[in-house]
Amino acid sequence: MQSLQNFAEQKLASLEARALRRTLAPTRRMEGAWVEREGRRLLSFSCNDYLGLSHHPAVKAAAAAAIETYGVGAGASRLVTGDHPLMEVLEARLAALKGTEAACVFGSGYLANAGILPTLVGPGDLIVVDELAHSCIWAGAKLSGAEITALRHNAVDDLAALLGDRRASFGRVIVATDGVFSMDGDLAPLDRLAEVCAAHDAWLLSDDAHGVGVLAEGRGSASLFPGTSIPLQMGTLSKAIGGYGGYLCASRAVIDLIKSRARTLVYSTGLPPACAASAIAALEVIAGDAALCARPLANARAFTAAMGLPPAQSPIVPVMIGDAARAVEASQALLEEGLLVVAIRPPTVPDGTSRLRIAFSADHAPADVARLAAALPAILAA
Ligand SMILES: *Cc1c(COP(=O)(O)O)cnc(C)c1O
Repeated sequence: MQSLQNFAEQKLASLEARALRRTLAPTRRMEGAWVEREGRRLLSFSCNDYLGLSHHPAVKAAAAAAIETYGVGAGASRLVTGDHPLMEVLEARLAALKGTEAACVFGSGYLANAGILPTLVGPGDLIVVDELAHSCIWAGAKLSGAEITALRHNAVDDLAALLGDRRASFGRVIVATDGVFSMDGDLAPLDRLAEVCAAHDAWLLSDDAHGVGVLAEGRGSASLFPGTSIPLQMGTLSKAIGGYGGYLCASRAVIDLIKSRARTLVYSTGLPPACAASAIAALEVIAGDAALCARPLANARAFTAAMGLPPAQSPIVPVMIGDAARAVEASQALLEEGLLVVAIRPPTVPDGTSRLRIAFSADHAPADVARLAAALPAILAA
């Protein structure tokens, strides 16, 4: 198929010319925040395992025991025979953590958003998505067939105006946002968004991938806004929870509908039982160790203070560069100093906003944070 070959080669050349080609780099995660790449030990600031739970002894032991008991794979969709008993335990824990009636666990966070939105809205409905929300929210929105409108980042007044103008033209309306923005590290104003949504009968979906485990003693970004009720609270088990999988916490009726209709749940094999077991163990660690949960944000704030940046709102701190090629160069310069900080480029972020995305973890010592803060200024000035 020469045309296929040509297409792939030309597309790659075009990406290369714009410094947008991406490559995989096998990276072995070692103890703490250390990794090994091409035989070199590097201190990583690019991992979302914010609490180091992927390597926690109790979490690993729970996964190993589940493999012994249930085997490695779920064997089928959860609706067939893949609904292992551990799933029920995990869902009860997630619902308790988020203060909802029920929860549904998916194969991943991406699958969760790709399944939730098309179950709840369709043609004739509207989805309003924050312009900086995660790619899988957009994917779910597109799959739904609903009309999609981008909301200027965190622009609550724009949302109120939009819904005031147009709410009546649609059947159901969902407003979807990250709770903690994955590439910017800032928070959504969930309290004010929830108020506007309630006033216009729109359903707020918040994606707490980067909040659970690390904000509000581990309960996540919504808990920073006491008294705020968010009907659709989605998240992932793959970041601070240390393993793999995704979830939605919501009312019993919504969860029952999702379990009956979400295509990414119905037509995809259930999460491996070991992932459920490790998530249960990780949530136990999170519930019992508020000091651990506070460490990633404290490290991020130590860094922003040292750099003269506004105080971090989450463990994620972007250092803006702009040009994609320059962002890659800065990342490479840090690599030469033994520091792994991945450059983030379009289309993950808007054109002209390439950046270093720094993720702080509980495993970083104050000296690690200081080392990065000391290395960066010269590299950014170069
Ligand atoms: C990582 C991420 C996801 C996807 O979760 P996975 O479990 O990795 O598929 C969804 N939303 C946000 C905001 C994320 O950062």
